[in-house]
Amino acid sequence: MDFLFTEEQERFRQEVRSFLDKELPSDWVDYIGTAIDDTITPSKNGEKVFRDMALKLGRKGWLSLFWPKEYGGQSCSYVDYLIFLEELARRGSPGYNAIGAKMLAPTLFKYGTAEQKARHLKLIASGDEFWCEGFTEPDAGSDLASLQTKAVRDNNDYIINGQKTWSTFAKYSDWCCLLVRTAPELKRHRGISFFLVDLSTPGVTVNPIIDIQGEPDFAEIFFEDARVPKENLVGGENEGWKVVQTMLSYERIAIGPVTVAQSLIERLVEYIKANPQRQWGNSRQTLAKLKVEAEIGWLICYRLAWLHDKGTATAYDAAASRLYSTELLKRAASVAVELLGLYGQLDKKDSRAPLHGWFEHLYLSSIGMTIAAGTSEVLKNVIAGIGLKLPRE
Ligand SMILES: Cc1cc2nc3c(=O)[nH]c(=O)nc-3n(C[C@H](O)[C@H](O)[C@H](O)COP(=O)(O)OP(=O)(O)OC[C@H]3O[C@@H](n4cnc5c(N)ncnc54)[C@H](O)[C@@H]3O)c2cc1C
Repeated sequence: MDFLFTEEQERFRQEVRSFLDKELPSDWVDYIGTAIDDTITPSKNGEKVFRDMALKLGRKGWLSLFWPKEYGGQSCSYVDYLIFLEELARRGSPGYNAIGAKMLAPTLFKYGTAEQKARHLKLIASGDEFWCEGFTEPDAGSDLASLQTKAVRDNNDYIINGQKTWSTFAKYSDWCCLLVRTAPELKRHRGISFFLVDLSTPGVTVNPIIDIQGEPDFAEIFFEDARVPKENLVGGENEGWKVVQTMLSYERIAIGPVTVAQSLIERLVEYIKANPQRQWGNSRQTLAKLKVEAEIGWLICYRLAWLHDKGTATAYDAAASRLYSTELLKRAASVAVELLGLYGQLDKKDSRAPLHGWFEHLYLSSIGMTIAAGTSEVLKNVIAGIGLKLPRE
């Protein structure tokens, strides 16, 4: 395995860096815009920055970096894409529209109709259309196949009733990828269908949930006799499980948690050096260990992208990368808050908060990272089953 990037990749990394230096607001860190992974925190006027950045990234052709040329993409590798995501995460830049550009688009290449591709791909690539995910329900999270939101066929439409929850960015999205039950008589995942739903459809209500950082990043979505045209069904009726599995397989190609952990270590080291008068306990040992762990996490993420390029990535590889990255970020954020003592707990509203409350913010958001895209326990189940072939208990 060659651990070096090509000259072209190094040039591309520099291009993304220069672009972000130029295009992000100069006080971006003050917005606490931490695009750790697939989510952003649009505090202050962060939503506007998100929208503007998406359009700019779209104009560069970077939202469709790994898409095949036939769908208007750049046909770059997943390693190239990870370089792009790494640079975005390093600056906490929003705008890459993970659900639309990274996850839904490749799902539509495989299962979408010609009409669905024509209608959505161009708008996703240009940064004009935003998507959220409507999968989880109050009683269906890790066990997603137990979902109860239902769709009933009525002539050329389906009528949808039910509730989704924890939908990231739904408040700011135009469309939703929705999983519903279309055949209650069939067992669990066999009776599920996948729809593309315009969030402005009558009968659809998006109700923001304030998250642990005090931001309305999540939402519940209620469906009350919402009519969705049959043309918005993806992959066929009762075929939604395989569609969603495809979509979720792209979710774990990510590097945000590791990059943010690396930034956190760097900033913490700078902060410690700038404040020598304070007692820093066992910081040398702790930070040295974290530094090595972050390096390992970085390699695991690029290895996953490289395996995707070769077409040999398994669910085990994806679960291992996600588990390691998110647990690393949680550990790193916890170390930061512990070392900073009481100051580490101050949020952005307090002028004494180190780095405008960045450490505190990361500490809180790092917890959700070990739940989203499969909880750490669920990821360990995948690793035990597929990686180690251990029998179920
Ligand atoms: C930051 C964030 C963003 C999210 N974004 C979205 C989104 O955009 N769209 C969306 O639809 N959902 C989203 N979610 C929801 C997320 O997918 C669910 O929270 C997750 O799947 C867990 O489901 P749950 O919360 O119902 O917990 P549960 O599944 O009820 O789990 C509760 C606890 O039991 C454990 N557990 C469950 N099953 C097992 C098992 N088989 N073995 C061992 N332990 C188990 C879990 O690990 C957890 O500790 C998001 C969540 C977070 C935190």
